[in-house]
Amino acid sequence: MANKRTTVTPGQWVNFRLYQSGPGHPDWPQLEAEAEDIARSVLPRLEPPRAGWREWRRRLRAYATTTGNFVINRRLLQAGREDFRPLYFIWTLVRTCNFRCPYCDDHRGRRYPDLPKAGTLSTEDGIRLLRIMRTGTPSVYFSGGEPILRKDLPQLTRAARDLDYFPIIINTNASVIDRLLEREEWHNWLADTDIIIVSLDALHLPTLERMWAYAHPERVVRNLLVLYRLAAPMRFKLMVNAVIQPGAVEHARDVLDFANDLRIWYCPVPMNTRAVVHGALAADRAYFDLATLIVQRKAQGYPISGSPRMLRRLLWSEPLVCRNTLKPHVDYDGHLFWPCKSSVNVEPERIDVLQFENVESLYRYAAGRIDPANFHGPGPHQCGGNCNWAQNYSTDTYAYGLQHPLRLVSDIAEFLRGRGNGPSR
Ligand code: SF4
Repeated sequence: MANKRTTVTPGQWVNFRLYQSGPGHPDWPQLEAEAEDIARSVLPRLEPPRAGWREWRRRLRAYATTTGNFVINRRLLQAGREDFRPLYFIWTLVRTCNFRCPYCDDHRGRRYPDLPKAGTLSTEDGIRLLRIMRTGTPSVYFSGGEPILRKDLPQLTRAARDLDYFPIIINTNASVIDRLLEREEWHNWLADTDIIIVSLDALHLPTLERMWAYAHPERVVRNLLVLYRLAAPMRFKLMVNAVIQPGAVEHARDVLDFANDLRIWYCPVPMNTRAVVHGALAADRAYFDLATLIVQRKAQGYPISGSPRMLRRLLWSEPLVCRNTLKPHVDYDGHLFWPCKSSVNVEPERIDVLQFENVESLYRYAAGRIDPANFHGPGPHQCGGNCNWAQNYSTDTYAYGLQHPLRLVSDIAEFLRGRGNGPSR
Protein backbone atom coordinates (compact mmCIF):
# COMPACT_ATOMS: atom_id res chain seq x y z
CA MET A 1 0.00 0.00 0.00
CA ALA A 2 3.02 2.28 0.42
CA ASN A 3 2.85 3.62 -3.13
CA LYS A 4 -0.89 3.79 -3.49
CA ARG A 5 -2.00 7.00 -5.22
CA THR A 6 -5.35 8.52 -4.39
CA THR A 7 -7.54 11.16 -5.91
CA VAL A 8 -8.17 13.88 -3.35
CA THR A 9 -11.29 15.97 -2.95
CA PRO A 10 -10.43 17.74 0.23
CA GLY A 11 -12.48 20.87 0.51
CA GLN A 12 -14.19 23.85 -1.00
CA TRP A 13 -11.92 24.69 -3.88
CA VAL A 14 -9.09 22.16 -4.19
CA ASN A 15 -10.67 19.38 -6.24
CA PHE A 16 -8.42 17.10 -8.21
CA ARG A 17 -9.44 15.04 -11.19
CA LEU A 18 -6.12 14.51 -12.97
CA TYR A 19 -3.64 14.83 -10.13
CA GLN A 20 -3.29 11.85 -7.81
CA SER A 21 -1.85 12.35 -4.38
CA GLY A 22 0.34 9.74 -2.72
CA PRO A 23 2.73 9.07 0.16
CA GLY A 24 5.00 12.05 0.72
CA HIS A 25 2.60 14.44 -1.01
CA PRO A 26 1.05 17.40 0.83
CA ASP A 27 -1.78 17.04 3.29
CA TRP A 28 -4.19 18.85 0.99
CA PRO A 29 -7.12 19.42 3.37
CA GLN A 30 -4.71 20.91 5.88
CA LEU A 31 -2.98 23.14 3.31
CA GLU A 32 -6.27 24.26 1.86
CA ALA A 33 -7.57 25.25 5.28
CA GLU A 34 -4.38 27.19 6.05
CA ALA A 35 -4.38 28.89 2.66
CA GLU A 36 -8.03 29.85 3.04
CA ASP A 37 -7.34 31.39 6.45
CA ILE A 38 -4.37 33.38 5.19
CA ALA A 39 -6.18 34.60 2.08
CA ARG A 40 -9.29 35.63 4.04
CA SER A 41 -7.18 37.41 6.60
CA VAL A 42 -5.01 39.43 4.19
CA LEU A 43 -7.43 40.16 1.35
CA PRO A 44 -9.42 42.97 3.06
CA ARG A 45 -6.15 44.72 3.89
CA LEU A 46 -4.65 44.58 0.39
CA GLU A 47 -4.80 47.58 -1.89
CA PRO A 48 -7.39 46.74 -4.59
CA PRO A 49 -6.14 46.21 -8.13
CA ARG A 50 -6.14 49.31 -10.27
CA ALA A 51 -9.08 49.58 -12.66
CA GLY A 52 -10.58 52.16 -14.99
CA TRP A 53 -8.89 54.65 -17.28
CA ARG A 54 -5.55 54.73 -15.38
CA GLU A 55 -5.16 51.00 -15.82
CA TRP A 56 -6.12 51.23 -19.48
CA ARG A 57 -3.69 54.10 -19.96
CA ARG A 58 -0.89 51.98 -18.49
CA ARG A 59 -1.61 49.13 -20.88
CA LEU A 60 -2.05 51.38 -23.89
CA ARG A 61 1.27 53.09 -23.21
CA ALA A 62 3.03 49.73 -22.90
CA TYR A 63 1.38 48.51 -26.12
CA ALA A 64 2.51 51.74 -27.80
CA THR A 65 6.12 50.95 -26.83
CA THR A 66 5.73 47.39 -28.13
CA THR A 67 4.32 48.70 -31.41
CA GLY A 68 7.03 51.37 -31.73
CA ASN A 69 9.71 48.74 -31.09
CA PHE A 70 8.15 46.49 -33.70
CA VAL A 71 8.47 49.25 -36.30
CA ILE A 72 12.08 49.96 -35.27
CA ASN A 73 12.92 46.25 -35.29
CA ARG A 74 11.53 45.76 -38.78
CA ARG A 75 13.74 48.59 -39.98
CA LEU A 76 16.76 47.07 -38.21
CA LEU A 77 16.05 43.70 -39.78
CA GLN A 78 15.83 45.23 -43.25
CA ALA A 79 19.19 46.88 -42.60
CA GLY A 80 20.70 43.50 -41.65
CA ARG A 81 21.03 44.47 -37.98
CA GLU A 82 19.98 42.48 -34.91
CA ASP A 83 20.26 44.96 -32.05
CA PHE A 84 16.52 44.55 -31.72
CA ARG A 85 14.70 46.68 -29.13
CA PRO A 86 13.34 44.70 -26.16
CA LEU A 87 10.01 43.02 -25.58
CA TYR A 88 10.81 43.07 -21.87
CA PHE A 89 13.88 43.07 -19.69
CA ILE A 90 14.89 40.54 -17.07
CA TRP A 91 16.26 42.10 -13.92
CA THR A 92 18.22 39.91 -11.49
CA LEU A 93 17.18 41.98 -8.51
CA VAL A 94 19.25 40.13 -5.92
CA ARG A 95 21.73 37.30 -5.72
CA THR A 96 20.40 36.17 -2.36
CA CYS A 97 18.30 33.00 -2.28
CA ASN A 98 17.01 30.76 0.50
CA PHE A 99 16.95 27.72 -1.84
CA ARG A 100 19.78 25.86 -3.60
CA CYS A 101 18.17 24.30 -6.67
CA PRO A 102 20.62 22.13 -8.65
CA TYR A 103 19.54 23.57 -12.01
CA CYS A 104 19.72 27.24 -11.03
CA ASP A 105 22.82 29.31 -11.65
CA ASP A 106 23.73 32.78 -12.83
CA HIS A 107 23.91 31.53 -16.46
CA ARG A 108 27.68 31.43 -16.03
CA GLY A 109 27.72 28.21 -13.97
CA ARG A 110 27.87 29.87 -10.53
CA ARG A 111 25.28 29.48 -7.76
CA TYR A 112 23.59 32.73 -6.68
CA PRO A 113 23.91 32.24 -2.91
CA ASP A 114 27.70 31.82 -3.33
CA LEU A 115 28.19 35.09 -5.19
CA PRO A 116 29.14 38.43 -3.60
CA LYS A 117 26.29 40.85 -2.97
CA ALA A 118 28.29 44.09 -2.92
CA GLY A 119 27.04 46.57 -5.50
CA THR A 120 23.36 45.69 -5.25
CA LEU A 121 21.42 48.75 -6.42
CA SER A 122 19.76 50.99 -3.85
CA THR A 123 16.01 51.59 -4.13
CA GLU A 124 16.65 55.01 -5.62
CA ASP A 125 19.01 53.65 -8.28
CA GLY A 126 16.65 50.74 -8.93
CA ILE A 127 13.87 53.22 -9.71
CA ARG A 128 16.27 55.21 -11.90
CA LEU A 129 17.09 52.00 -13.76
CA LEU A 130 13.39 51.28 -14.28
CA ARG A 131 12.94 54.82 -15.64
CA ILE A 132 15.83 54.43 -18.12
CA MET A 133 14.73 50.99 -19.32
CA ARG A 134 11.12 52.18 -19.71
CA THR A 135 12.20 54.58 -22.47
CA GLY A 136 12.32 51.58 -24.78
CA THR A 137 10.95 48.57 -22.90
CA PRO A 138 7.26 47.83 -22.27
CA SER A 139 7.57 45.06 -19.69
CA VAL A 140 9.78 44.07 -16.75
CA TYR A 141 10.50 40.58 -15.38
CA PHE A 142 11.80 40.62 -11.80
CA SER A 143 14.03 37.65 -11.15
CA GLY A 144 16.87 36.56 -8.88
CA GLY A 145 18.21 34.92 -6.75
CA GLU A 146 14.93 35.22 -4.94
CA PRO A 147 13.39 38.62 -5.69
CA ILE A 148 10.90 38.64 -2.78
CA LEU A 149 13.87 38.63 -0.40
CA ARG A 150 14.44 42.21 -1.47
CA LYS A 151 12.61 44.36 1.10
CA ASP A 152 11.91 47.22 -1.28
CA LEU A 153 10.26 45.06 -3.94
CA PRO A 154 6.84 46.71 -3.34
CA GLN A 155 8.42 50.12 -3.98
CA LEU A 156 9.97 48.85 -7.19
CA THR A 157 6.76 47.26 -8.46
CA ARG A 158 4.86 50.46 -7.60
CA ALA A 159 7.44 52.48 -9.54
CA ALA A 160 7.11 50.03 -12.45
CA ARG A 161 3.35 50.45 -12.45
CA ASP A 162 3.60 54.24 -12.27
CA LEU A 163 6.01 54.12 -15.21
CA ASP A 164 3.38 52.20 -17.20
CA TYR A 165 5.20 48.92 -17.53
CA PHE A 166 2.89 46.12 -18.62
CA PRO A 167 2.97 43.29 -17.86
CA ILE A 168 4.95 43.41 -14.59
CA ILE A 169 6.18 39.86 -14.04
CA ILE A 170 7.87 38.21 -11.08
CA ASN A 171 9.42 34.76 -10.75
CA THR A 172 9.51 33.61 -7.14
CA ASN A 173 9.82 30.54 -4.95
CA ALA A 174 6.90 31.96 -2.88
CA SER A 175 8.33 30.55 0.34
CA VAL A 176 7.69 33.64 2.50
CA ILE A 177 4.80 35.28 0.67
CA ASP A 178 2.33 34.57 3.49
CA ARG A 179 4.47 36.54 5.95
CA LEU A 180 5.15 39.38 3.52
CA LEU A 181 1.48 39.91 2.71
CA GLU A 182 0.84 40.48 6.40
CA ARG A 183 3.11 43.53 6.37
CA GLU A 184 1.69 46.94 5.59
CA GLU A 185 4.61 47.78 3.25
CA TRP A 186 3.55 44.85 1.06
CA HIS A 187 -0.15 45.65 0.84
CA ASN A 188 0.22 47.29 -2.58
CA TRP A 189 2.40 44.56 -4.05
CA LEU A 190 -0.20 42.25 -5.57
CA ALA A 191 -2.11 45.23 -6.98
CA ASP A 192 1.06 46.23 -8.82
CA THR A 193 1.94 42.80 -10.21
CA ASP A 194 0.44 41.35 -13.38
CA ILE A 195 1.98 37.88 -13.57
CA ILE A 196 3.37 35.77 -10.71
CA ILE A 197 5.40 32.73 -11.71
CA VAL A 198 6.02 30.25 -8.90
CA SER A 199 8.75 27.64 -9.34
CA LEU A 200 7.39 24.18 -8.54
CA ASP A 201 9.21 21.08 -9.77
CA ALA A 202 7.41 18.30 -7.88
CA LEU A 203 4.71 17.68 -5.28
CA HIS A 204 6.54 14.93 -3.46
CA LEU A 205 7.73 16.84 -0.40
CA PRO A 206 10.88 14.82 0.44
CA THR A 207 12.00 15.25 -3.18
CA LEU A 208 11.40 19.00 -3.00
CA GLU A 209 13.20 19.25 0.32
CA ARG A 210 16.23 17.55 -1.20
CA MET A 211 16.06 19.37 -4.52
CA TRP A 212 15.64 22.85 -3.06
CA ALA A 213 17.71 22.25 0.10
CA TYR A 214 14.78 23.86 1.91
CA ALA A 215 13.27 22.30 5.01
CA HIS A 216 9.61 23.34 4.52
CA PRO A 217 8.50 22.73 0.94
CA GLU A 218 4.88 22.40 2.12
CA ARG A 219 4.97 26.16 2.81
CA VAL A 220 5.63 26.81 -0.86
CA VAL A 221 2.67 24.65 -1.88
CA ARG A 222 0.50 26.30 0.76
CA ASN A 223 1.55 29.77 -0.41
CA LEU A 224 0.85 28.78 -4.00
CA LEU A 225 -2.70 27.98 -2.83
CA VAL A 226 -2.85 31.39 -1.12
CA LEU A 227 -1.90 33.04 -4.42
CA TYR A 228 -4.39 30.85 -6.25
CA ARG A 229 -7.09 32.07 -3.87
CA LEU A 230 -6.06 35.72 -4.37
CA ALA A 231 -5.51 35.62 -8.14
CA ALA A 232 -9.13 36.32 -9.10
CA PRO A 233 -9.90 39.19 -6.69
CA MET A 234 -6.45 40.76 -7.20
CA ARG A 235 -6.56 40.16 -10.97
CA PHE A 236 -3.11 38.76 -11.52
CA LYS A 237 -2.16 35.79 -13.64
CA LEU A 238 -0.69 32.86 -11.72
CA MET A 239 1.72 30.44 -13.36
CA VAL A 240 3.87 27.55 -12.23
CA ASN A 241 7.27 27.03 -13.74
CA ALA A 242 8.15 23.32 -13.67
CA VAL A 243 11.72 22.30 -14.41
CA ILE A 244 11.63 18.83 -15.99
CA GLN A 245 14.66 16.98 -14.74
CA PRO A 246 16.22 13.68 -15.85
CA GLY A 247 15.12 10.87 -13.55
CA ALA A 248 12.32 13.02 -12.10
CA VAL A 249 9.90 13.25 -15.00
CA GLU A 250 7.04 11.73 -12.98
CA HIS A 251 7.30 14.67 -10.58
CA ALA A 252 6.88 17.11 -13.44
CA ARG A 253 3.82 15.10 -14.50
CA ASP A 254 2.34 15.59 -11.01
CA VAL A 255 2.81 19.34 -11.31
CA LEU A 256 1.19 19.34 -14.76
CA ASP A 257 -1.87 17.45 -13.43
CA PHE A 258 -2.10 19.65 -10.35
CA ALA A 259 -1.86 22.88 -12.37
CA ASN A 260 -4.33 21.64 -14.97
CA ASP A 261 -6.85 20.67 -12.28
CA LEU A 262 -6.71 24.11 -10.69
CA ARG A 263 -6.36 25.85 -14.07
CA ILE A 264 -3.16 27.50 -12.99
CA TRP A 265 -0.99 28.37 -16.00
CA TYR A 266 1.72 25.77 -16.54
CA CYS A 267 5.11 26.54 -18.04
CA PRO A 268 7.33 23.50 -18.79
CA VAL A 269 11.08 24.04 -18.53
CA PRO A 270 13.19 21.14 -19.84
CA MET A 271 16.37 21.22 -17.75
CA ASN A 272 19.47 22.72 -19.36
CA THR A 273 23.04 22.22 -18.29
CA ARG A 274 24.73 25.53 -18.90
CA ALA A 275 23.70 26.51 -22.41
CA VAL A 276 22.30 23.24 -23.80
CA VAL A 277 19.35 20.96 -23.03
CA HIS A 278 20.26 18.08 -20.70
CA GLY A 279 21.19 15.08 -22.87
CA ALA A 280 19.58 12.50 -20.57
CA LEU A 281 16.15 14.07 -21.04
CA ALA A 282 16.06 13.64 -24.80
CA ALA A 283 16.90 9.94 -24.35
CA ASP A 284 14.22 9.38 -21.70
CA ARG A 285 11.02 7.68 -22.87
CA ALA A 286 9.13 9.14 -19.89
CA TYR A 287 10.11 12.62 -21.07
CA PHE A 288 8.78 11.88 -24.55
CA ASP A 289 5.46 10.73 -23.06
CA LEU A 290 5.19 13.80 -20.84
CA ALA A 291 6.01 16.15 -23.72
CA THR A 292 3.31 14.47 -25.81
CA LEU A 293 0.81 14.81 -22.97
CA ILE A 294 1.59 18.51 -22.49
CA VAL A 295 0.92 19.19 -26.16
CA GLN A 296 -2.33 17.18 -25.97
CA ARG A 297 -3.50 19.07 -22.90
CA LYS A 298 -2.76 22.34 -24.65
CA ALA A 299 -4.94 21.22 -27.55
CA GLN A 300 -7.68 20.35 -25.04
CA GLY A 301 -7.66 23.94 -23.79
CA TYR A 302 -5.75 23.66 -20.51
CA PRO A 303 -3.84 26.82 -19.60
CA ILE A 304 -0.31 25.99 -20.74
CA SER A 305 1.92 28.85 -21.78
CA GLY A 306 3.03 29.30 -25.38
CA SER A 307 1.32 28.59 -28.66
CA PRO A 308 1.00 24.88 -29.64
CA ARG A 309 3.71 25.34 -32.25
CA MET A 310 6.06 27.03 -29.80
CA LEU A 311 5.43 24.34 -27.18
CA ARG A 312 6.27 21.56 -29.62
CA ARG A 313 9.46 23.32 -30.64
CA LEU A 314 10.48 23.80 -26.99
CA LEU A 315 9.67 20.29 -25.81
CA TRP A 316 11.42 18.61 -28.74
CA SER A 317 14.35 21.04 -28.70
CA GLU A 318 13.88 22.07 -32.30
CA PRO A 319 16.55 24.40 -33.65
CA LEU A 320 16.00 28.11 -33.12
CA VAL A 321 17.75 31.36 -33.84
CA CYS A 322 18.25 33.16 -30.56
CA ARG A 323 17.79 36.96 -30.47
CA ASN A 324 18.83 37.86 -27.01
CA THR A 325 18.65 41.64 -27.24
CA LEU A 326 14.86 41.20 -27.29
CA LYS A 327 15.01 40.07 -23.64
CA PRO A 328 18.09 41.71 -22.18
CA HIS A 329 19.37 40.69 -18.74
CA VAL A 330 20.22 43.41 -16.27
CA ASP A 331 22.23 42.26 -13.28
CA TYR A 332 21.75 43.00 -9.56
CA ASP A 333 24.19 45.92 -9.83
CA GLY A 334 22.49 47.57 -12.80
CA HIS A 335 24.82 46.22 -15.49
CA LEU A 336 23.44 44.98 -18.78
CA PHE A 337 24.94 41.76 -20.14
CA TRP A 338 25.53 42.23 -23.85
CA PRO A 339 24.60 40.62 -26.12
CA CYS A 340 23.85 37.60 -23.92
CA LYS A 341 24.41 36.69 -20.30
CA SER A 342 24.82 32.97 -21.09
CA SER A 343 27.33 33.27 -23.91
CA VAL A 344 30.00 30.56 -23.71
CA ASN A 345 32.53 31.37 -26.43
CA VAL A 346 32.47 35.15 -26.09
CA GLU A 347 32.68 36.92 -22.76
CA PRO A 348 29.66 39.25 -22.64
CA GLU A 349 30.15 42.97 -22.10
CA ARG A 350 28.80 44.33 -18.81
CA ILE A 351 27.47 47.82 -19.37
CA ASP A 352 26.31 50.14 -16.59
CA VAL A 353 22.74 51.08 -17.53
CA LEU A 354 22.72 54.04 -15.14
CA GLN A 355 25.30 55.80 -17.33
CA PHE A 356 22.76 56.16 -20.13
CA GLU A 357 19.74 58.35 -20.62
CA ASN A 358 17.65 55.90 -22.54
CA VAL A 359 17.49 52.50 -24.20
CA GLU A 360 18.32 54.03 -27.57
CA SER A 361 21.72 55.36 -26.43
CA LEU A 362 22.36 52.22 -24.35
CA TYR A 363 21.74 49.92 -27.32
CA ARG A 364 23.73 52.13 -29.71
CA TYR A 365 26.72 51.98 -27.38
CA ALA A 366 26.34 48.24 -26.74
CA ALA A 367 26.05 47.33 -30.44
CA GLY A 368 29.30 49.24 -31.00
CA ARG A 369 31.03 47.00 -28.44
CA ILE A 370 29.77 43.63 -29.75
CA ASP A 371 27.63 43.36 -32.86
CA PRO A 372 24.71 41.03 -31.98
CA ALA A 373 24.02 40.15 -35.63
CA ASN A 374 24.50 36.43 -36.20
CA PHE A 375 25.71 36.06 -32.59
CA HIS A 376 23.91 32.78 -31.91
CA GLY A 377 25.95 29.87 -33.23
CA PRO A 378 28.88 27.56 -32.51
CA GLY A 379 31.72 29.66 -33.98
CA PRO A 380 34.55 31.21 -31.97
CA HIS A 381 32.95 34.67 -32.30
CA GLN A 382 29.47 33.37 -31.58
CA CYS A 383 27.75 32.48 -28.31
CA GLY A 384 28.54 28.74 -28.45
CA GLY A 385 25.23 27.91 -26.73
CA ASN A 386 21.95 26.35 -27.70
CA CYS A 387 19.72 27.27 -24.80
CA ASN A 388 16.45 25.41 -24.87
CA TRP A 389 14.32 27.97 -23.07
CA ALA A 390 10.75 29.07 -23.70
CA GLN A 391 11.96 32.68 -23.72
CA ASN A 392 14.26 31.91 -26.65
CA TYR A 393 11.48 30.29 -28.63
CA SER A 394 9.26 33.31 -28.01
CA THR A 395 11.94 35.74 -29.20
CA ASP A 396 12.60 33.48 -32.21
CA THR A 397 8.85 33.54 -32.93
CA TYR A 398 8.85 37.32 -32.63
CA ALA A 399 11.83 37.68 -34.97
CA TYR A 400 10.01 35.47 -37.48
CA GLY A 401 6.95 37.67 -36.97
CA LEU A 402 8.95 40.76 -37.95
CA GLN A 403 8.73 39.37 -41.46
CA HIS A 404 5.31 37.74 -41.02
CA PRO A 405 3.36 40.06 -38.67
CA LEU A 406 0.06 38.15 -38.75
CA ARG A 407 1.69 35.07 -37.21
CA LEU A 408 2.55 37.13 -34.15
CA VAL A 409 -0.93 38.27 -33.29
CA SER A 410 -2.26 34.99 -31.83
CA ASP A 411 0.89 34.38 -29.75
CA ILE A 412 0.76 37.85 -28.21
CA ALA A 413 -2.98 37.60 -27.53
CA GLU A 414 -2.45 34.31 -25.73
CA PHE A 415 0.38 35.69 -23.61
CA LEU A 416 -1.78 38.57 -22.42
CA ARG A 417 -4.84 36.40 -21.82
CA GLY A 418 -5.73 34.75 -18.54
CA ARG A 419 -5.22 37.23 -15.71
CA GLY A 420 -7.10 36.33 -12.56
CA ASN A 421 -7.14 32.53 -12.85
CA GLY A 422 -8.52 31.25 -9.60
CA PRO A 423 -11.28 29.40 -7.84
CA SER A 424 -14.01 31.93 -8.60
CA ARG A 425 -13.45 31.85 -12.35
S1 SF4 B 1 21.54 30.27 -27.35
FE1 SF4 B 1 23.34 31.58 -27.30
S2 SF4 B 1 22.56 33.67 -27.50
FE2 SF4 B 1 20.84 32.35 -26.91
S3 SF4 B 1 20.70 32.46 -24.68
FE3 SF4 B 1 22.00 30.67 -25.19
S4 SF4 B 1 24.11 31.40 -25.18
FE4 SF4 B 1 22.74 33.19 -25.31
